[in-house]
Amino acid sequence: QKAEWAKLLHENTKSADGHQVHLVANIGTPNDLEGVINNGGEGVGLFRTEFLYMGRNELPTEEEQFEAYKAVLEGLNGKPVVVRTLDIGGDKELSYLDLPKEMNPFLGFRAIRLCLEEQDIFRTQLRALLRASVYGNLKIMFPMIANLDEFRAAKGILEEEKQKLINEGIQVSDDIEVGIMVEIPSTAVMADQFAKEVDFFSVGTNDLIQYTMAADRMNERVSYLYQPYSPAILRLVKMVIDAAHKEGKWAGMCGEMAGDELAIPLLLGLGLDEFSMSATSILKARSQILHLSKKEMEDLAQRALQMSTTDEVIEAVKEVIEK
Ligand code: PEP
Ligand code: MG
Repeated sequence: QKAEWAKLLHENTKSADGHQVHLVANIGTPNDLEGVINNGGEGVGLFRTEFLYMGRNELPTEEEQFEAYKAVLEGLNGKPVVVRTLDIGGDKELSYLDLPKEMNPFLGFRAIRLCLEEQDIFRTQLRALLRASVYGNLKIMFPMIANLDEFRAAKGILEEEKQKLINEGIQVSDDIEVGIMVEIPSTAVMADQFAKEVDFFSVGTNDLIQYTMAADRMNERVSYLYQPYSPAILRLVKMVIDAAHKEGKWAGMCGEMAGDELAIPLLLGLGLDEFSMSATSILKARSQILHLSKKEMEDLAQRALQMSTTDEVIEAVKEVIEK
């Protein structure tokens, strides 16, 4: 099995009937790059930049961030790198920001909400990203977007910083895609409207599942509700993918679900374009997709969308992949 995977290291990812998708990696620091390359990653689908901010006593400077982003972009040699802007809050605290305790931190002042309010932090990160953009294929992604106003505000700030840099005579790529994570049900429901303005979507199922089911992703007692194969989740994912394609945009997924053996057939069938997962899952997923027919997975996905329970979906997927 390992030998078969090794042969796929430099291959594209195509289904048995020739449909191509992209398998990319989730990373947290430039140190993770080696793993991406050694495991056949076609790029990075989620760079969680929080890690640059954590485990220290003050905000990282623009220069420190610039070096980290440049290293990742150069290391990937022109392959796409989706960098997510700061997603702090919820379970990820920064002690030095001194934010008031909240009753419901996962529903509170976090991620893009914080960045739109604390604009110095946001603008510093965006400047570092824009300056690094000339070293590779950068895509910028905003986390926890709940409505279009937030996206427009974030994109507006990005445009302002870009213009400032250009006025200072600093080079910036003119070809940076700007997209959003879909982690909040309202955004999945409104995906048709978002699709007119964003360049891409990446579905963050780790949060999308918890917010859709109102079930804390860390709480064992309610984990029976936290089900990626629930028809409710599949329907939301379908809305996002269909909305993207209708506007000629692409849709990815960077939650754990994207690397899950039982989810991959469904996601292929729903038309997902990009699967972002831990680097060590990539070759296994490539080998799996190679043996799946996109056409058959479309039938499977259509049936799953009409099922009433998670168990029915799991049964149906197992039946198809054991064949
Ligand atoms: C997600 O919510 O699915 C996601 C990828 O982001 P994180 O796990 O960092 O919240
Ligand atoms: Mg998330």
